[in-house]
Formats: sequence, C-alpha cells, structure tokens
Amino acid sequence: MSQDYEVIIGLEVHVELKTASKLFCGCSTEFGADPNTHTCPVCLGMPGVLPVVNGEAVRMAVRSALALNCTVHPQSKFDRKQYFYPDLPKAYQISQYDQPLAEFGWVVIRPEGQEPRKISIRRIHVEEDAGKLNHLGQRLGDATGSLVDLNRAGVPLIEIVSEPDLRSAEEARLYLIELRASLSYLDVSDLRMEEGSMRCDANVSLRPRGYQGSLEDLPRVEIKNVNSIRNVQRGIDYEVMRQEQLMSQGERIVKETRGFDDAQGRTYSQRSKEEANDYRYFPEPDLPPLILEQGFIEQIKNSMPALPDAIREDLRARGIPAKDAEVLVLDREAYEYWLEAVALYPHERTVTNWMLSDLARLVNVRGESYRRATVGPSQLVGLLKLIDSGTLSGRMAKDVLEAMFETQQSPEAIVKEKGLSQITDEGAIGEVVRSVLQANPSVVDDYLSGKEKALAFLVGQVMKATRGQAKPDLVNRLLKESIARDYRAPC
Ligand code: ADP
Ligand code: MG
Ligand code: ZN
Repeated sequence: MSQDYEVIIGLEVHVELKTASKLFCGCSTEFGADPNTHTCPVCLGMPGVLPVVNGEAVRMAVRSALALNCTVHPQSKFDRKQYFYPDLPKAYQISQYDQPLAEFGWVVIRPEGQEPRKISIRRIHVEEDAGKLNHLGQRLGDATGSLVDLNRAGVPLIEIVSEPDLRSAEEARLYLIELRASLSYLDVSDLRMEEGSMRCDANVSLRPRGYQGSLEDLPRVEIKNVNSIRNVQRGIDYEVMRQEQLMSQGERIVKETRGFDDAQGRTYSQRSKEEANDYRYFPEPDLPPLILEQGFIEQIKNSMPALPDAIREDLRARGIPAKDAEVLVLDREAYEYWLEAVALYPHERTVTNWMLSDLARLVNVRGESYRRATVGPSQLVGLLKLIDSGTLSGRMAKDVLEAMFETQQSPEAIVKEKGLSQITDEGAIGEVVRSVLQANPSVVDDYLSGKEKALAFLVGQVMKATRGQAKPDLVNRLLKESIARDYRAPC
C-alpha cells in the first residue's frame, strides 16, 4: 500500500439465528430438507396472509446485540425493502430501516504488536432471509435454468453493520473472529461461513492523504457474500490493489457491488450499487412496532454467559499465557474441552500445553472437532495422570495419545496391551547405561573433556536401547554417576 492512500473498510455481517421456526411463520428452519418442504402461505408470499414475529428470534437478536455492547432500543419497527429477485416471492424483504433493534455497539480487536482497538458497530437489525437459487450447470453464465428453493425464505437473520473503522484486511479478519467468538457463546447461531449461516459483505474504499470529507462520500465498492474469512481478506486485498491502480492512473472508482471469484482471487463487477431510495423502504403495515419491555431486556442481560473478555481475564488469572488463552477463547469447543479437563485435573498449564500441541494436531489431521474428539477430556486427563504416576514419560505419552485416537482405547488399556510403562528400576537402567558407555568410549572422552552435548547422545542411546521406556531423569543421573565412578574424572 502506498503512502498516498489509507484503506477504509466497513463490514456488514449477516448471521442466521438458529430458532426452530422462521421469523414470521411456523415453518421449520431445518437445514438440508427437500426443496420447498418447509414453506407455507406466509413465507411463500401469498396474498392476504399476515406475518407474526417470532419471539425467540427477537430474544436471540437482543442477546447478540447486548454481547456486542449495543444499546437495545425499547422500540423499533419493521420496514419493507422492495426489490425483485426470483428468490424473494413477495418482491420485498421485511427488514428494519430507520429504527433498528440496536445501535452503538463495538468489538475490540487486538492487532499484533499494537494496542487493542475498538471497532464501532453502527447498528444491528432483524430481517428475514431470502430463498436459494440452485443454478443448473457449472456456472451462472452457462446455466440452463435455475431452481428456486424457498426453505430458507423467512429464516431469521440479524445484520451487524460496522462503522468504517477497519484499516486493513488483517483488521477485518480480527474483527470477524472476535465477533464470531462473542456470538458463539450465546447459542444463537451456527456461525458457519461455508454453510452460509454467517455471511459477510465487505465495503472497501481508499482515502487519499489529506482528504477532509466524510467517509460516506468516498466512492466505495461492496464485495458481496464472501464465504470464508480468508476470502474476505483476499477480496479486500484485491480491491485495494485494483482501486489503487485506477486512482494512480487518475481514474475514478465507480460505486458498485462486486462478487469474489475464489479460483482467480479477484473481484468482478456485478451491478452498480443501489441507493437506499431505490428500495422504496416503507413501514411494514402488517406488523406493529416491536416494543421491548425493560424487564425483558434486563432479564436477558442477567442471563448472559461469560463472554470472551471475561474468559480471557479468567484464563489469565489461572496462569495461562495470553497467546494460549487466545486460542482457547476464540474456539468455544476448545475452551469447553479445556474447562472439562481442568475440572478433573487442576493443572491448567499442563492441560493447555497438551491440548494446544499434540491433541490439537491429532484433532486437526483427523478432521475432528473438540466437541466430538475421539479422545475426550477425561481420557486426556487419564493419560496425564499416567505421566504423573511415573508410568509414562512425556515422550511415551505422545505415542500413547496417538494410539488412543487410532484404537479408541483408554490409555491404561494401551499401556497394558503394548507392555509399555516406564522403566524406573535403577538396576535395569544401570545395566543398559554400562553397556552404552562401554560401546561409546570416544563419546565418554568428549564428555569428560567438557562437551555437554556428548551426554545428550549417550542419553539418546540408552533411550533407544530401552525403546523410549527408561525414565529420562534417571538415565541422566545414572550416566553421570557411572562416568564419575568408572571413568577418569574430568580434570
Ligand atoms: P448500504 O445499504 O449502502 O450497504 P449500509 O448502511 O448497509 O449501506 O452499510 C454501509 C457500510 O459501508 C457500513 O458497514 C459502513 O461502515 C461502510 N462504509 C461507509 N463508508 C465507507 C467507506 N468510505 N469505505 C468503506 N466502507 C464504508
Ligand atoms: Mg448493505
Ligand atoms: Zn412458512
């Protein structure tokens, strides 16, 4: 990025609420059902039907707004946003326009090596989702037709609109992971970008140095519906490059909506951007204003779970390094795994170290999640206890953990079956030590002449001879003792 421009980014995030039924009718919101089986006259947009707002959706939206530090308005209202598209049978979407559910929130991001920064949330409103078009053929361009599935039509969404406070693709990523983490503790959404239960539009513009006008007046591009955080970053990076190139050639940026081409890593023009007045918003005549009693909001406030900042503080107080705490906080399943493990075995640091190294690697390569990991918290703890009791060395425990994933057996069963267990018998180790020393006289000389590394080699030989089962600190001690006793003392 050149010195001439500053990158300005604002994100609009849509989050599907996981209510059992839709926002304005009783149809199921279940994902993956046969097309058009979860529909009724209301969500099909038949004339003469009346929407009724789903209280559970409102409750989830309020929970989300509070978790994101918003002011929840005691009164908001629904509006019709008119546009025509085949996935929208009513030809309008019920949304909220000038009186949204909530405003003035924020999310804190922590860019590496910088002070944490507050990113403001302009508003959160409630709206219904549209249906889904399934295009026949490889790409929209070659499609021979499109099939309309209205199962998703009317599913509740919240839209979270940030202020244009973000200054880089990396900051956008931090904002998204923080926002997703906060919502993840609320049980309001699956938050899966690949499945569309969380979707992000990224607005990108470049502010020339010295520009004094309003950010709203800068020509910006809206990149629509990107399906992963990685692609949000790629889309932003591409836009910054494209806009900078155009501007340096003295060309104007056209305010437009662009798609993101995953394979090519580029954005492409879709349509010139609609302005609010193109949508002919007007108050939804079939719904009364949404009035929330103070007691209702208070009750939700009082039932909020621990959120990321409180969890970070708790982990810090329990001695977990900030970097490790971050990994746990940002992945609710990992954090819950951790909580379960430390409840059984109160050595927080040890649990964290095992979880974030060997366990994380095995969970990842096997494509498992922490919630459904083959090796659950109590089994991991069983393994850690075998290290404490001296049955296993740390080295052996790593192998046993792998075997636990492979065979789904308990650590005790694996130890028994493989005849593992640490050799702690001094006599037995002493014999191996003697033969290793006899076989490596020159290494012993090296050690005696001051080469510390020589000892590590000898330890390695003993471990090898015992198939890793000798207790390492014992090997160390016996080697030193034996050398001091049986060989020339160092001069
Ligand atoms: P629209 O209907 O045009 O998408 P919204 O109010 O829904 O308008 O969203 C506007 C989004 O654009 C907000 O997230 C806001 O932060 C962002 N935005 C405003 N000005 C800029 C800018 N100069 N550069 C990038 N994003 C911007
Ligand atoms: Mg928008
Ligand atoms: Zn319906």
